[in-house]
Amino acid sequence: KAKGDGGNRYGFFSEEMSIAMKKRMALEIALRGALDRGEFVLHYQPRIGLPSEKLMGVEALVRWNNPERGLVPPSDFISIAEETGLIDELGIWVLRQACLDIQGLSNRLGYQLSVSVNLSPKQLLSPNLVAQVQHALDQAGMQSKYLELELTEGAFIHDMQASTLAMQQLKTLGVRLAVDDFGTGHAGISYLQRFPIDVVKLDRTFITPNTSEPHGRGFMKALSDMTHALGLHVVAEGVEDKATLDLLCQTQCDEAQGYFIARPLPLSMLVTYVEKKWVTV
Ligand code: C2E
Ligand code: MG
Ligand code: MG
Ligand code: MG
Repeated sequence: KAKGDGGNRYGFFSEEMSIAMKKRMALEIALRGALDRGEFVLHYQPRIGLPSEKLMGVEALVRWNNPERGLVPPSDFISIAEETGLIDELGIWVLRQACLDIQGLSNRLGYQLSVSVNLSPKQLLSPNLVAQVQHALDQAGMQSKYLELELTEGAFIHDMQASTLAMQQLKTLGVRLAVDDFGTGHAGISYLQRFPIDVVKLDRTFITPNTSEPHGRGFMKALSDMTHALGLHVVAEGVEDKATLDLLCQTQCDEAQGYFIARPLPLSMLVTYVEKKWVTV
């Protein structure tokens, strides 16, 4: 079919590729426009302390509010934004907006919340990152200790020297650094010692099965003890039921986040959530 197909010398396979490429280019252009038109929004997922269940802070999660498609999840556009370099600009916007929103809310409540922001691997190695983080904090009037930056293992596994330096510079600002999705990548326990990390976020795929497995409890306890021995804080992601939350309390996990506690919420709904918690506490 590939040859002698008249109109298309490159054949079926290339035609498929070119459709994919056109789609990608269209998405790139759309993302650029979305940034200019202010179509990105942040949702905030609550994070609670254990065993108190007190609200400690929130994680900022970006969505694209597309007029035709509705709310587009980050999995559909973050990697493209990374490949095209748009992530730097989007990342700065996320940082600033998250600090402004959460400091604003904290001021209104008279109750300081922390905010976690996800950084892409590319952002970590950007030479402007430290200045951008400082600027976001200054603009919001937020103390640096209330900002946590989440990095996936992939962000620092490639160029360890450059990543360590970037992380050390961020640490001098006084922000906290977290390893996101811990347990899903290749980076093992030694990384927790090697890099200037404060918080380990255990991935959902790591947490959920342990609720039902016979050695799950022991495993979680060992993991939590080891993390504590390294002087780090443990947060469990993707807590979807009561059994898991109970297990995390028993194994001395420090904080939990997940649908069982709350979904990621638009700012207005976060306000309602916090006020409700505030009254019932
Ligand atoms: P992440 O940082 O690991 O965020 C947690 C993801 O798990 C979020 O998906 C959240 O909605 C989802 N989640 C939370 N609790 C539960 C649960 O109980 N069950 C299940 N099944 N899922 C739960 P989301 O918002 O779609 O974000 C996906 C990923 O996109 C994030 O994973 C993060 O890596 C990336 N991302 C999100 N916002 C940003 C951003 O502003 N910048 C960058 N660079 N990446 C971002
Ligand atoms: Mg995260
Ligand atoms: Mg995660
Ligand atoms: Mg994840």
